[in-house]
Amino acid sequence: MNLSHWFTEEVAATGTAFSLKITQKLHEEHSDFQHLEIYDTQTFGKLMTIDGCTMVSTRDNFFYHEMMSHPALFLHPNPKRVWIIGGGDCGTLREVLKHPNVEQVVQIDIDERVTRLAEVYFPELCESNKDPRAQLKFIDGIKWVKDALPNSVDLIIVDSTDPVGPAEGLFGERFYRDCVACLSDDGLLVQQSESALLHLKLIGEMREAMKKSGFSHLQTLFFPQCIYPSGWWSATIASKAALTFRQQDCEAKTFDTLYYNADIHHAATAQPEFFKKAFA
Ligand code: SAM
Repeated sequence: MNLSHWFTEEVAATGTAFSLKITQKLHEEHSDFQHLEIYDTQTFGKLMTIDGCTMVSTRDNFFYHEMMSHPALFLHPNPKRVWIIGGGDCGTLREVLKHPNVEQVVQIDIDERVTRLAEVYFPELCESNKDPRAQLKFIDGIKWVKDALPNSVDLIIVDSTDPVGPAEGLFGERFYRDCVACLSDDGLLVQQSESALLHLKLIGEMREAMKKSGFSHLQTLFFPQCIYPSGWWSATIASKAALTFRQQDCEAKTFDTLYYNADIHHAATAQPEFFKKAFA
């Protein structure tokens, strides 16, 4: 079906909208959990949306996938065991597997159909799925973490949809307590934390719940992400121990990135004035 018009994500709560000129709708389905659509766009390659929200585009996903993985991996002293909660498009998985010291990555996405569609329409994001260190599971990440044993993971990456529907429970104190319980003492959680411009209250609630759950150190990172509301996104890192950026390891990295490097790491951890004042 050829459609020469625009895909628009309207967000009533923030009075914002984002559009991409599309040439074709390539796929649409209702999985057991979500409404999934794939478009071909005029300038951003393929676009996947979930429940009408932009998720991933060919052109700009690198900002998000690199910033959801590398800062946290270089803040952990020696990350070997990584879980990705969500991440069904597999872009974060690909970035994590670029780290040679990582020994095991388990990706737990509730909706297998997201990954099966990514394999067809975003094969470049799925190029590491057959890495022997990778395991893909299709269950609820909330239950996975709840049932986990103590000290069973070094880094938990929550690469989920917005805090609604199946992802809602990933943004609350009960989930964070379960994360604290299964993370190693020097372990850390990194979670996509929406836009500091549009969702400051939510970020405050997340940070409060993380602190109440037993995370003593919090750091919110800021980075661009064109197709998400406001185009300015964030990830919040929570840990039980103080973290030191392995700058030398980062500068000596042997793998390619398009956005992330040591300078970007420092820039992303710089706190905007309004943010400092909100959470001083
Ligand atoms: N980059 C996107 C963003 O920031 O909105 C997220 C991309 S990824 C496609 C989001 C994934 O979270 C989806 O594949 C969805 O199935 C998954 N998800 C939502 N709730 C979940 C849950 N409770 N457990 C596991 N995966 C979940």
